[in-house]
Amino acid sequence: MRFDVVTLFPEMLRDAACHGVTGRAIENHIVDLLLWNPREYTHDRHRTVDDRPYGGGPGMVMKVGPLRDAIRAARIDSPLPAKTVYLSPQGRVLDQAAVARFAASPRLILVAGRYEGIDERLIEAEIDEEWSIGDYVLSGGELAALVLFDAVVRLLPGVLGHAESAAQDSHVAGLLDCPHYTRPEEIDGRKIPEILQSGNHEAIRRWRLKQSLGRTWLKRPDLLAKVRLDAEQAGLLGE
Ligand code: SAM
Repeated sequence: MRFDVVTLFPEMLRDAACHGVTGRAIENHIVDLLLWNPREYTHDRHRTVDDRPYGGGPGMVMKVGPLRDAIRAARIDSPLPAKTVYLSPQGRVLDQAAVARFAASPRLILVAGRYEGIDERLIEAEIDEEWSIGDYVLSGGELAALVLFDAVVRLLPGVLGHAESAAQDSHVAGLLDCPHYTRPEEIDGRKIPEILQSGNHEAIRRWRLKQSLGRTWLKRPDLLAKVRLDAEQAGLLGE
């Protein structure tokens, strides 16, 4: 899959993306990350990338020409079809279902805003979808683009060592993940649940499913309404 990110701060993405799971995905050529800086598309001596808002008031707006040229340069750089996504606090709030849909596409162009945002007419003309990472305001879209990038990349085939680990993750099947334990067997008097050392894999799967259901009920009861158990899970619960 290919990601193109239009950003005034490409080093924020370059530096953050090269670690861990996403870094390996880039090294293994499972994902390509290309960065487009509107500043490279300026024509004045000061390489200006912001402009005053019509109507006055505080704050600046991203300068139209350089941003539009950067988006268009990214778009024509590959024949792969791509949705152009603007990261914005006004967009739909990102969830795992949207992330899974993005992971099925060959390419995404992400546009990170700065200042008060981007000219409304550019949103109308150049942007296919607006997505937010939550109901709060960031200083720029770079962190939001990284969140989307990371969440999508870990779903791509071959990225995670164990594909099942992604399937068990919170939100993937609608439930929260079960608790995890590692050595030592006891920490300050707290022991691991005995079942995990029983060697009975079916009983462990049943215990984990019950833990997932229980903690979803306790921490995020709003999620339970949408949960549909698959045949294996229903079998484990004896339904
Ligand atoms: N004036 C804008 C508004 O209130 O809708 C906010 C502009 S914000 C300071 C600058 C940029 O940060 C936005 O253009 C957007 O790209 C990004 N941004 C801020 N909050 C975000 C969020 N919750 N999700 C995604 N992107 C966000």
